[in-house]
Amino acid sequence: MTANQVRRCPVFIDGLWRELPDLETSPVYNPSRGEVIAEVPQCSDEIVNEAVEAAAAAFPSWRDTPPVERARLFFRYRQLVEENFDLICQLVSREHGKTLAEARGSAFRGLENIEYACGIPSLLMGDSLENIARGVDCETVQQPLGVCVGITPFNFPAMVPLWMFPLALACGNTFVLKPSEKVPLTAILLIELLEKAGLPKGVLNVVHGGRACVDALLTHPKVRAISFVGSSAVAKYIYETGTRNGKRVQANGGAKNYIVVMPDADVPRTVEALATAAFGCAGERCMAGSTALTVGVAANRVLDSLVQAARAIKVGPTDAAVQPDMGPVITAQHRDRVLSLVTRGETEGAKVICDGRGAHNHDAPNGFFVGATIVDEVTNEMTLAREEVFGPVLNVMRMDDLDQAINLANRSAYGNGAAIFTNSGKAAREFKHRVKAGMVGINVGVPATMAMFPFTGWDDSFYGDLHIQGREGVQFYTQQKVISTRWFGDNVGDVWRK
Ligand code: NAD
Repeated sequence: MTANQVRRCPVFIDGLWRELPDLETSPVYNPSRGEVIAEVPQCSDEIVNEAVEAAAAAFPSWRDTPPVERARLFFRYRQLVEENFDLICQLVSREHGKTLAEARGSAFRGLENIEYACGIPSLLMGDSLENIARGVDCETVQQPLGVCVGITPFNFPAMVPLWMFPLALACGNTFVLKPSEKVPLTAILLIELLEKAGLPKGVLNVVHGGRACVDALLTHPKVRAISFVGSSAVAKYIYETGTRNGKRVQANGGAKNYIVVMPDADVPRTVEALATAAFGCAGERCMAGSTALTVGVAANRVLDSLVQAARAIKVGPTDAAVQPDMGPVITAQHRDRVLSLVTRGETEGAKVICDGRGAHNHDAPNGFFVGATIVDEVTNEMTLAREEVFGPVLNVMRMDDLDQAINLANRSAYGNGAAIFTNSGKAAREFKHRVKAGMVGINVGVPATMAMFPFTGWDDSFYGDLHIQGREGVQFYTQQKVISTRWFGDNVGDVWRK
């Protein structure tokens, strides 16, 4: 598939790509142009059942494939992903609207997850202790679960699927992937490459659709575990429904991430980091720094430069030869929601000090654009302060001191990320110790974790026990067995002498 083809998205079941012409479809857009570029089928219960059955049938043989051989699949896959990296990034850019630089950055995070999965023989090694009692030894082994499912959001078309299936498969599970119906093309390309790397049939299957398709996966008796990334309301639903149906679930939800700016922060670096955290990927990331909590005179020190930086951000189509600084948001409906939340903030008393509501691009008049927006004097009662906006909108809330900033951040229902910009070790220490968030940045605006660390959201940003990525990811995709061994016999030496 090339980056420019329009297609009906196929499912991938038991090693075969099928187009399913009888199923209803929903449109996939190029948000830079507002054009439909593909159609994605809404899979029925029967199709979902076929995919799960194929994965279940492939499990015994894949489970018994030695970890070093499973790792070799991912060494070959890593090579193919690297060779096709530009194509993957063009597709991310085309169906999602990230700039090519943003697509590269996020796809690279995905690639690192493949590299992590290549280390599976070491990651699966257990513990052992000789002589837990006289003549008795004890060991632990990590065994795969069976059929695992991945349900992914629109905002990272390559990275989030790569958070899931490489590690799940490397651990010896088989898999059914249900990519976001808004961005299925990148997922299809990623699986085409996995097939080229030598994926045995049935080991990974792809289905498409929305709630009905997800429900069929959540309730299927042969599904053992579910990895989900998306909004909090859906994450909670997935967790409750999945666990009620006896499945292990890890469900990452939405976020509202605070960045505290202390009066002693390095101004140019803080401004740059705030602009990147708030407006990078058009604000469509769960680790976006969506609220700046400026302490004391910090607002006076950073806001003018921040407004200048935001005004300089050029919005435009990301499929053009000359790349913009920021692309569109995902759909017209989402753009309208973001704009109405800003207007509502204004009605509730906040001040829009950089207004991106009129963003337009002459070369792409139908693109779903929102310009970089900064809203000052936001208070915690406002809708803007509480709801995840998921667009290029930075709230500014003015705080008297660090204590007030930490207390405010800690009142949020979410708990994904939080950051502080300061030159004071004491302030940083206080912040990292007390703030209620799973990922914390000290002079790092987007403290999203890499493949070897878990992606540790708290509260409404995560439902489950074991997070995605890293050793927790391995634990999630395996079950532990503890084996105690004793051998009977009088004298081993005598047996050998016979
Ligand atoms: P979404 O919740 O609308 O959709 C996510 C997935 O769930 C999609 O595959 C979709 O088809 C499915 N889905 C949607 N509605 C459903 C329903 N009612 N029942 C069952 N399944 C349903 O999320 P989105 O808009 O695609 O993605 C953006 C959200 O994801 C944001 O809230 C963002 O913060 C969050 N996100 C979180 C993380 C994280 O690690 N915490 C990472 C990326 C994105």
